Amino acid sequence: KGKSRRILVTGGCGFIGSALVLHLVQGLGHEVATLDALTYAANPISLAPLDGDPRHRLVTGDICDPQAVHALFSQFRPDAVMHLAAESHVDRSITDPGAFIRTNVVGTQVMLDGARTHWESLTGEARDAFRFLHVSTDEVYGSLPPDGFFTEESRYDPRSPYSASKAASDHLARAWHETYGLPVLVTNCSNNYGPRHFPEKLIPLMILNALEGRPLPVYGDGLNERDWIHVEDHARGLVAVLESGKLGETYLLGGRSVRNNLAVVNALCAAFDRLLPDHGPHERLISFVADRPGHDRRYAIDPGKAEHEIGWVPTKNFEQALEDTVQWYLDNEAWWRPIREGRYTGERLGLGVSA
Ligand code: NAD
Repeated sequence: KGKSRRILVTGGCGFIGSALVLHLVQGLGHEVATLDALTYAANPISLAPLDGDPRHRLVTGDICDPQAVHALFSQFRPDAVMHLAAESHVDRSITDPGAFIRTNVVGTQVMLDGARTHWESLTGEARDAFRFLHVSTDEVYGSLPPDGFFTEESRYDPRSPYSASKAASDHLARAWHETYGLPVLVTNCSNNYGPRHFPEKLIPLMILNALEGRPLPVYGDGLNERDWIHVEDHARGLVAVLESGKLGETYLLGGRSVRNNLAVVNALCAAFDRLLPDHGPHERLISFVADRPGHDRRYAIDPGKAEHEIGWVPTKNFEQALEDTVQWYLDNEAWWRPIREGRYTGERLGLGVSA
């Protein structure tokens, strides 16, 4: 505890990965190697604050490539892995499930195998201290009845290609613990929000649409409920589980902020009205569109186990942190403008409308 670690982070150029890498290096002084294939969802500018910092290196590579993964393990010799690389957008998983099976399932197997070979080569304290943290989602548990909460005992019931691929990866991570003894930890987290979020997801999409005076498209009746956690609370939670979680166990991380989609969009409009009063009222931009197929009604997390066993708690107030997020997008046009205009990814974003 408190000791500087060498941590291999996969997917570190994505939304949560970049918040985590910045926290690990700048906040905690760890040494980090980021392995990222730089897909459309990556934005390497997110890690620009680490340019020239000897504690960080970016390795461009695919987690499905066993040679690249094994080479990185032997060169960097990490004492922990935090595995976040994934295809992460539900709407894309409906049109292109193959990419999700490849990266989320096969890629996780390759990472687990790489970690296992490396861990088996360690001895003594280094072997005891090694950890593989597999980062997953609460969507593996399917949809909840009104007022229900997911716990670590909830039954797996994935309902989209995305959540099914993440469920498979969770099972692989636990199997590598049971079968090979690899020191695995699993976290399942609720919907994240905050800075550097790719603008195909609900909150950043709504922010940029509001900024441009475009419609704010809400799926169905807007009453689908999600439990929102600020990405920095999540990053702290991942570190807490890595340092203090019990081997082989699962921890649910959530923000204790359940809101329906319409309430989220209303809160965004209120934030915009405060920050840009001359452009308001922004509520007039809300428009309802046909629902997503298989759209889960409610996700909500009971994070009691993580709170009691490892002493982590989410700290952000949702409405305040949402306003801060809007302010971040107002202040960081250079981050999102190339993505929004399709220059960065070479494609135009459609109007995906859920988280
Ligand atoms: P993201 O889409 O923003 O980032 C994913 C990153 O992984 C990108 O940088 C991408 O380039 C990289 N990547 C994709 N395929 C790769 C491959 N084959 N090899 C190497 N790198 C690859 O995702 P995110 O929202 O930051 O999510 C990170 C992790 O957290 C995912 O595992 C996701 O399932 C999980 N999660 C996300 C949320 C959320 O609300 N965003 C909630 C709970 C769990």
